[in-house]
Amino acid sequence: MSTATELAERLRSLLVPAAHDLPSNTEYLAHLDVAAADRSLIRLASNENTEPPSPRVREALERAYDDANLSPPTLPPLRLALAERYGVVPGRVLVGAGSTELIDATMRTFVRAGDEVVLPRPSWPVYRRRLAALEARIVEVPLATDDRSYAYDVDALLGAVTGRTKLIVVCTPNNPTGNSMSVDDVRRCAQAGPVVLLDAAYADFDTGSDVTSIVNEYENVVLARTFSKAYCLAGLRVGYVVGDAAVLDFVDRFLVPGSSVSSASLHAALAALEDGDYHRRQVERIVSERERLLAGLRQLGVRAYDSRGNFVAVDCSGYNDEARGLAAALLEHGIVIRVMDERLVRITVGRGEENDAVLAALATIAPRARRG
Ligand code: PMP
Repeated sequence: MSTATELAERLRSLLVPAAHDLPSNTEYLAHLDVAAADRSLIRLASNENTEPPSPRVREALERAYDDANLSPPTLPPLRLALAERYGVVPGRVLVGAGSTELIDATMRTFVRAGDEVVLPRPSWPVYRRRLAALEARIVEVPLATDDRSYAYDVDALLGAVTGRTKLIVVCTPNNPTGNSMSVDDVRRCAQAGPVVLLDAAYADFDTGSDVTSIVNEYENVVLARTFSKAYCLAGLRVGYVVGDAAVLDFVDRFLVPGSSVSSASLHAALAALEDGDYHRRQVERIVSERERLLAGLRQLGVRAYDSRGNFVAVDCSGYNDEARGLAAALLEHGIVIRVMDERLVRITVGRGEENDAVLAALATIAPRARRG
Protein backbone atom coordinates (compact mmCIF):
# COMPACT_ATOMS: atom_id res chain seq x y z
CA MET A 1 0.00 0.00 0.00
CA SER A 2 1.45 3.34 -0.96
CA THR A 3 1.12 6.27 1.38
CA ALA A 4 -0.96 9.31 0.51
CA THR A 5 2.24 11.30 -0.14
CA GLU A 6 3.62 8.65 -2.49
CA LEU A 7 0.34 8.63 -4.38
CA ALA A 8 0.28 12.41 -4.65
CA GLU A 9 3.89 12.39 -5.88
CA ARG A 10 3.17 9.70 -8.45
CA LEU A 11 0.20 11.66 -9.76
CA ARG A 12 2.31 14.82 -9.95
CA SER A 13 4.85 12.99 -12.06
CA LEU A 14 2.07 12.18 -14.55
CA LEU A 15 1.09 15.80 -15.05
CA VAL A 16 1.92 17.62 -18.27
CA PRO A 17 4.81 20.06 -17.61
CA ALA A 18 2.62 23.19 -17.90
CA ALA A 19 0.32 22.01 -15.10
CA HIS A 20 3.00 22.65 -12.49
CA ASP A 21 3.10 26.38 -13.19
CA LEU A 22 -0.50 27.17 -14.10
CA PRO A 23 -2.09 29.62 -11.68
CA SER A 24 -5.36 28.73 -9.95
CA ASN A 25 -8.62 29.73 -11.68
CA THR A 26 -10.40 29.85 -8.32
CA GLU A 27 -8.00 32.55 -7.17
CA TYR A 28 -8.30 34.40 -10.47
CA LEU A 29 -12.09 34.42 -10.17
CA ALA A 30 -12.27 35.12 -6.42
CA HIS A 31 -14.11 38.42 -7.07
CA LEU A 32 -17.06 36.43 -8.50
CA ASP A 33 -17.39 34.49 -5.25
CA VAL A 34 -17.08 37.64 -3.15
CA ALA A 35 -19.93 39.24 -5.14
CA ALA A 36 -22.06 36.06 -5.20
CA ALA A 37 -21.85 35.68 -1.42
CA ASP A 38 -23.52 39.04 -0.85
CA ARG A 39 -26.07 40.22 -3.42
CA SER A 40 -26.14 43.67 -1.84
CA LEU A 41 -22.62 44.40 -3.09
CA ILE A 42 -22.20 46.56 -6.17
CA ARG A 43 -20.38 44.30 -8.65
CA LEU A 44 -18.08 46.25 -10.91
CA ALA A 45 -15.30 43.68 -11.17
CA SER A 46 -16.15 41.62 -14.28
CA ASN A 47 -17.19 44.03 -17.03
CA GLU A 48 -20.65 42.52 -17.03
CA ASN A 49 -23.62 44.69 -17.87
CA THR A 50 -25.25 45.48 -14.51
CA GLU A 51 -28.65 45.82 -16.19
CA PRO A 52 -30.80 42.77 -17.02
CA PRO A 53 -31.19 41.62 -20.64
CA SER A 54 -34.00 42.60 -23.01
CA PRO A 55 -37.47 41.35 -21.97
CA ARG A 56 -37.43 39.39 -25.24
CA VAL A 57 -34.71 37.22 -23.68
CA ARG A 58 -37.12 36.25 -20.91
CA GLU A 59 -39.68 35.11 -23.48
CA ALA A 60 -37.01 33.21 -25.41
CA LEU A 61 -35.89 31.38 -22.27
CA GLU A 62 -39.49 30.42 -21.59
CA ARG A 63 -39.79 29.04 -25.13
CA ALA A 64 -36.46 27.25 -24.71
CA TYR A 65 -38.24 24.84 -22.38
CA ASP A 66 -39.91 23.25 -25.40
CA ASP A 67 -36.70 21.87 -26.91
CA ALA A 68 -34.58 21.58 -23.77
CA ASN A 69 -34.53 17.78 -24.22
CA LEU A 70 -33.00 18.04 -27.71
CA SER A 71 -29.38 18.62 -28.72
CA PRO A 72 -29.04 21.79 -30.80
CA PRO A 73 -28.24 21.54 -34.55
CA THR A 74 -24.84 22.62 -35.91
CA LEU A 75 -26.45 25.52 -37.77
CA PRO A 76 -28.78 27.00 -35.16
CA PRO A 77 -30.83 30.09 -36.10
CA LEU A 78 -28.39 32.27 -34.11
CA ARG A 79 -25.52 31.27 -36.39
CA LEU A 80 -27.62 31.99 -39.47
CA ALA A 81 -28.71 35.37 -38.08
CA LEU A 82 -25.12 36.35 -37.28
CA ALA A 83 -23.97 35.31 -40.76
CA GLU A 84 -26.70 37.46 -42.26
CA ARG A 85 -25.73 40.38 -40.06
CA TYR A 86 -22.11 40.19 -41.25
CA GLY A 87 -23.13 39.44 -44.85
CA VAL A 88 -21.16 36.18 -44.89
CA VAL A 89 -21.97 32.49 -45.42
CA PRO A 90 -22.78 30.56 -42.19
CA GLY A 91 -19.47 28.69 -42.45
CA ARG A 92 -17.73 31.98 -41.70
CA VAL A 93 -19.28 32.19 -38.21
CA LEU A 94 -18.77 29.88 -35.22
CA VAL A 95 -20.82 30.17 -32.06
CA GLY A 96 -19.38 29.11 -28.71
CA ALA A 97 -19.90 29.04 -24.95
CA GLY A 98 -18.60 32.57 -24.53
CA SER A 99 -15.99 34.02 -26.85
CA THR A 100 -13.48 32.60 -24.36
CA GLU A 101 -14.13 29.10 -25.66
CA LEU A 102 -13.52 30.17 -29.25
CA ILE A 103 -10.45 32.23 -28.39
CA ASP A 104 -9.04 29.17 -26.64
CA ALA A 105 -9.89 26.92 -29.60
CA THR A 106 -8.25 29.38 -32.01
CA MET A 107 -5.09 29.33 -29.92
CA ARG A 108 -5.08 25.53 -29.82
CA THR A 109 -5.61 25.39 -33.59
CA PHE A 110 -2.40 27.29 -34.31
CA VAL A 111 -0.12 27.17 -31.28
CA ARG A 112 1.83 24.35 -29.72
CA ALA A 113 4.71 24.19 -27.24
CA GLY A 114 7.51 26.60 -28.13
CA ASP A 115 5.54 28.57 -30.76
CA GLU A 116 5.73 32.34 -30.41
CA VAL A 117 2.68 34.48 -29.71
CA VAL A 118 2.81 38.27 -29.56
CA LEU A 119 0.64 39.77 -26.82
CA PRO A 120 0.05 43.36 -25.70
CA ARG A 121 0.83 44.18 -22.05
CA PRO A 122 -1.20 44.80 -20.02
CA SER A 123 -4.13 42.98 -21.56
CA TRP A 124 -6.77 40.40 -20.65
CA PRO A 125 -4.96 37.91 -18.36
CA VAL A 126 -6.81 34.93 -19.82
CA TYR A 127 -4.67 35.03 -23.00
CA ARG A 128 -1.54 34.39 -20.97
CA ARG A 129 -3.16 31.66 -18.92
CA ARG A 130 -4.41 29.72 -21.94
CA LEU A 131 -1.12 30.16 -23.80
CA ALA A 132 0.82 29.01 -20.74
CA ALA A 133 -1.23 25.81 -20.78
CA LEU A 134 -0.04 25.29 -24.36
CA GLU A 135 3.58 26.07 -23.38
CA ALA A 136 3.68 28.83 -25.97
CA ARG A 137 6.56 31.29 -25.99
CA ILE A 138 4.77 34.47 -24.99
CA VAL A 139 6.31 37.68 -26.32
CA GLU A 140 4.75 40.62 -24.51
CA VAL A 141 4.88 44.09 -26.00
CA PRO A 142 4.15 46.98 -23.59
CA LEU A 143 1.52 49.52 -24.56
CA ALA A 144 2.58 53.14 -24.75
CA THR A 145 1.16 55.31 -21.98
CA ASP A 146 0.97 58.79 -20.53
CA ASP A 147 -0.98 60.16 -17.56
CA ARG A 148 -4.37 59.98 -19.26
CA SER A 149 -4.34 57.19 -21.80
CA TYR A 150 -2.80 54.03 -23.11
CA ALA A 151 -2.08 53.35 -26.79
CA TYR A 152 -0.94 50.44 -28.91
CA ASP A 153 2.65 50.73 -30.06
CA VAL A 154 2.06 49.04 -33.39
CA ASP A 155 5.67 49.40 -34.56
CA ALA A 156 6.83 47.59 -31.41
CA LEU A 157 4.12 44.95 -31.82
CA LEU A 158 5.19 44.28 -35.42
CA GLY A 159 8.85 44.49 -34.43
CA ALA A 160 8.25 41.53 -32.10
CA VAL A 161 6.98 39.33 -34.96
CA THR A 162 9.54 36.77 -36.15
CA GLY A 163 9.41 33.81 -38.53
CA ARG A 164 8.33 31.69 -35.56
CA THR A 165 5.34 33.87 -34.60
CA LYS A 166 2.09 31.99 -35.04
CA LEU A 167 -0.34 34.45 -33.57
CA ILE A 168 -0.70 38.16 -32.74
CA VAL A 169 -3.39 38.98 -30.20
CA VAL A 170 -5.07 42.35 -30.67
CA CYS A 171 -7.66 43.24 -28.05
CA THR A 172 -9.61 46.30 -29.17
CA PRO A 173 -10.70 48.07 -27.07
CA ASN A 174 -8.05 46.59 -24.84
CA ASN A 175 -9.03 45.16 -21.46
CA PRO A 176 -8.09 46.67 -18.97
CA THR A 177 -6.52 49.80 -20.47
CA GLY A 178 -9.46 50.95 -22.62
CA ASN A 179 -7.52 52.01 -25.73
CA SER A 180 -8.44 50.70 -29.13
CA MET A 181 -6.49 50.00 -32.31
CA SER A 182 -7.34 51.84 -35.53
CA VAL A 183 -8.60 49.85 -38.51
CA ASP A 184 -5.45 50.78 -40.46
CA ASP A 185 -3.22 49.48 -37.68
CA VAL A 186 -5.20 46.23 -37.52
CA ARG A 187 -4.56 45.96 -41.27
CA ARG A 188 -0.82 46.36 -40.66
CA CYS A 189 -0.97 43.52 -38.15
CA ALA A 190 -2.88 41.34 -40.61
CA GLN A 191 -0.29 42.05 -43.31
CA ALA A 192 2.53 40.93 -41.00
CA GLY A 193 1.61 37.31 -41.75
CA PRO A 194 0.71 35.42 -38.56
CA VAL A 195 -2.88 34.74 -37.53
CA VAL A 196 -4.41 37.83 -35.91
CA LEU A 197 -6.81 37.08 -33.09
CA LEU A 198 -8.88 40.25 -33.08
CA ASP A 199 -10.70 40.23 -29.77
CA ALA A 200 -13.48 42.80 -30.11
CA ALA A 201 -15.35 41.86 -26.92
CA TYR A 202 -15.85 45.57 -26.12
CA ALA A 203 -16.20 46.89 -29.67
CA ASP A 204 -19.90 47.72 -29.14
CA PHE A 205 -18.78 50.58 -26.90
CA ASP A 206 -16.12 51.85 -29.32
CA THR A 207 -18.66 53.90 -31.20
CA GLY A 208 -17.39 55.52 -34.36
CA SER A 209 -14.89 52.77 -35.16
CA ASP A 210 -15.65 49.47 -36.84
CA VAL A 211 -12.94 46.85 -37.16
CA THR A 212 -15.32 44.13 -38.26
CA SER A 213 -14.94 44.72 -42.03
CA ILE A 214 -11.35 43.47 -41.71
CA VAL A 215 -12.56 39.87 -41.76
CA ASN A 216 -13.57 40.39 -45.37
CA GLU A 217 -10.11 41.62 -46.30
CA TYR A 218 -7.73 39.12 -44.68
CA GLU A 219 -8.17 35.38 -44.26
CA ASN A 220 -5.66 35.31 -41.36
CA VAL A 221 -7.92 37.42 -39.11
CA VAL A 222 -10.25 35.76 -36.60
CA LEU A 223 -12.67 38.27 -35.09
CA ALA A 224 -14.09 37.35 -31.66
CA ARG A 225 -17.24 38.96 -30.21
CA THR A 226 -19.49 38.32 -27.25
CA PHE A 227 -23.02 38.60 -25.90
CA SER A 228 -21.62 39.05 -22.36
CA LYS A 229 -21.28 42.84 -22.36
CA ALA A 230 -23.65 45.09 -24.35
CA TYR A 231 -26.22 42.28 -24.69
CA CYS A 232 -26.32 41.62 -20.91
CA LEU A 233 -25.90 37.82 -21.23
CA ALA A 234 -22.64 37.07 -19.37
CA GLY A 235 -24.31 34.32 -17.37
CA LEU A 236 -25.58 32.47 -20.43
CA ARG A 237 -22.14 32.16 -22.04
CA VAL A 238 -22.51 33.00 -25.72
CA GLY A 239 -19.85 34.37 -28.04
CA TYR A 240 -18.87 33.97 -31.67
CA VAL A 241 -16.02 34.31 -34.12
CA VAL A 242 -16.15 35.51 -37.72
CA GLY A 243 -13.38 34.65 -40.15
CA ASP A 244 -12.35 32.68 -43.19
CA ALA A 245 -14.48 29.54 -43.66
CA ALA A 246 -11.49 27.20 -44.03
CA VAL A 247 -9.77 28.67 -40.95
CA LEU A 248 -12.92 28.37 -38.85
CA ASP A 249 -13.45 24.80 -40.02
CA PHE A 250 -10.09 23.99 -38.41
CA VAL A 251 -10.97 25.98 -35.27
CA ASP A 252 -14.26 24.07 -35.03
CA ARG A 253 -12.32 20.79 -34.95
CA PHE A 254 -10.69 21.94 -31.71
CA LEU A 255 -14.06 22.30 -29.98
CA VAL A 256 -15.62 19.29 -28.28
CA PRO A 257 -18.31 18.14 -30.74
CA GLY A 258 -21.86 18.89 -29.71
CA SER A 259 -20.83 20.19 -26.30
CA SER A 260 -20.64 23.93 -26.53
CA VAL A 261 -23.36 26.52 -26.07
CA SER A 262 -26.70 25.26 -24.72
CA SER A 263 -29.96 25.50 -26.68
CA ALA A 264 -31.42 27.85 -24.05
CA SER A 265 -28.48 30.22 -24.52
CA LEU A 266 -28.83 30.03 -28.31
CA HIS A 267 -32.49 31.05 -28.05
CA ALA A 268 -31.65 33.86 -25.62
CA ALA A 269 -28.80 35.29 -27.69
CA LEU A 270 -30.95 35.30 -30.84
CA ALA A 271 -33.66 37.24 -29.00
CA ALA A 272 -31.06 39.70 -27.68
CA LEU A 273 -29.56 40.15 -31.16
CA GLU A 274 -32.98 40.84 -32.63
CA ASP A 275 -33.78 43.53 -30.07
CA GLY A 276 -31.60 46.16 -31.71
CA ASP A 277 -33.26 49.03 -29.84
CA TYR A 278 -32.45 47.54 -26.46
CA HIS A 279 -28.82 46.97 -27.47
CA ARG A 280 -28.52 50.54 -28.78
CA ARG A 281 -29.94 51.96 -25.55
CA GLN A 282 -27.48 49.91 -23.46
CA VAL A 283 -24.55 51.13 -25.53
CA GLU A 284 -25.67 54.77 -25.31
CA ARG A 285 -26.25 54.54 -21.57
CA ILE A 286 -22.90 52.89 -20.88
CA VAL A 287 -20.93 55.23 -23.12
CA SER A 288 -22.42 58.31 -21.47
CA GLU A 289 -21.99 56.87 -17.95
CA ARG A 290 -18.38 55.98 -18.81
CA GLU A 291 -17.60 59.56 -19.68
CA ARG A 292 -19.36 60.81 -16.53
CA LEU A 293 -17.50 58.32 -14.33
CA LEU A 294 -14.18 59.21 -15.93
CA ALA A 295 -14.76 62.95 -15.45
CA GLY A 296 -15.86 62.38 -11.84
CA LEU A 297 -12.78 60.29 -11.06
CA ARG A 298 -10.46 62.90 -12.53
CA GLN A 299 -12.20 65.63 -10.58
CA LEU A 300 -11.34 63.68 -7.43
CA GLY A 301 -7.69 63.65 -8.47
CA VAL A 302 -7.78 59.95 -9.32
CA ARG A 303 -5.56 58.98 -12.26
CA ALA A 304 -8.09 57.34 -14.58
CA TYR A 305 -7.45 56.41 -18.21
CA ASP A 306 -9.53 57.21 -21.29
CA SER A 307 -11.63 54.23 -22.27
CA ARG A 308 -13.51 52.95 -25.30
CA GLY A 309 -14.90 49.97 -23.33
CA ASN A 310 -17.47 49.52 -20.53
CA PHE A 311 -14.78 49.96 -17.87
CA VAL A 312 -12.21 52.45 -16.67
CA ALA A 313 -8.66 51.66 -15.54
CA VAL A 314 -7.21 53.56 -12.59
CA ASP A 315 -3.56 53.91 -11.65
CA CYS A 316 -3.25 53.43 -7.87
CA SER A 317 0.48 54.06 -7.52
CA GLY A 318 -0.08 57.04 -5.23
CA TYR A 319 -2.03 55.01 -2.67
CA ASN A 320 -1.14 52.91 0.32
CA ASP A 321 -0.81 49.30 -0.71
CA GLU A 322 -1.54 50.46 -4.27
CA ALA A 323 -4.17 48.50 -6.26
CA ARG A 324 -4.97 46.02 -3.49
CA GLY A 325 -5.35 48.82 -0.98
CA LEU A 326 -7.77 50.78 -3.13
CA ALA A 327 -9.86 47.68 -3.99
CA ALA A 328 -10.05 46.71 -0.30
CA ALA A 329 -11.12 50.22 0.66
CA LEU A 330 -13.89 50.20 -1.97
CA LEU A 331 -15.04 46.78 -0.76
CA GLU A 332 -15.55 48.33 2.67
CA HIS A 333 -17.99 50.65 0.91
CA GLY A 334 -19.77 47.65 -0.64
CA ILE A 335 -18.19 47.93 -4.10
CA VAL A 336 -16.26 45.08 -5.78
CA ILE A 337 -13.71 46.14 -8.39
CA ARG A 338 -10.87 44.27 -10.06
CA VAL A 339 -7.18 44.36 -9.21
CA MET A 340 -5.26 43.94 -12.50
CA ASP A 341 -1.68 44.22 -11.22
CA GLU A 342 0.19 45.91 -8.38
CA ARG A 343 -0.84 49.38 -9.43
CA LEU A 344 -3.78 49.09 -11.81
CA VAL A 345 -7.44 48.49 -10.96
CA ARG A 346 -10.35 48.26 -13.37
CA ILE A 347 -13.82 49.59 -12.57
CA THR A 348 -16.75 48.41 -14.70
CA VAL A 349 -19.19 51.13 -15.71
CA GLY A 350 -22.43 50.36 -13.88
CA ARG A 351 -25.83 52.02 -13.64
CA GLY A 352 -25.98 55.71 -12.74
CA GLU A 353 -26.48 55.07 -9.04
CA GLU A 354 -23.70 52.46 -8.94
CA ASN A 355 -21.26 54.89 -10.52
CA ASP A 356 -22.40 57.56 -8.07
CA ALA A 357 -21.60 55.15 -5.24
CA VAL A 358 -18.08 54.66 -6.62
CA LEU A 359 -17.51 58.40 -6.81
CA ALA A 360 -18.95 59.00 -3.32
CA ALA A 361 -16.77 56.24 -1.85
CA LEU A 362 -13.65 57.49 -3.59
CA ALA A 363 -14.35 61.03 -2.42
CA THR A 364 -13.73 59.76 1.11
CA ILE A 365 -11.11 57.09 0.32
CA ALA A 366 -8.91 58.85 -2.21
CA PRO A 367 -7.61 61.72 -0.08
CA ARG A 368 -7.24 59.45 2.98
CA ALA A 369 -5.46 56.68 1.11
CA ARG A 370 -3.04 58.90 -0.74
CA ARG A 371 0.52 58.36 0.40
CA GLY A 372 2.70 60.95 1.96
N1 PMP B 1 -12.21 39.00 -24.32
C1 PMP B 1 -12.02 39.95 -23.40
C2 PMP B 1 -11.00 40.99 -23.65
C3 PMP B 1 -12.76 39.94 -22.22
O1 PMP B 1 -12.53 40.87 -21.29
C4 PMP B 1 -13.74 38.94 -22.03
C5 PMP B 1 -14.58 38.89 -20.80
N2 PMP B 1 -14.01 39.18 -19.62
C6 PMP B 1 -13.88 37.99 -23.01
C7 PMP B 1 -13.10 38.05 -24.16
C8 PMP B 1 -14.78 36.81 -22.87
O2 PMP B 1 -16.09 36.99 -22.83
P1 PMP B 1 -17.09 35.78 -22.89
O3 PMP B 1 -16.34 34.50 -22.79
O4 PMP B 1 -18.00 35.99 -21.76
O5 PMP B 1 -17.75 35.91 -24.23
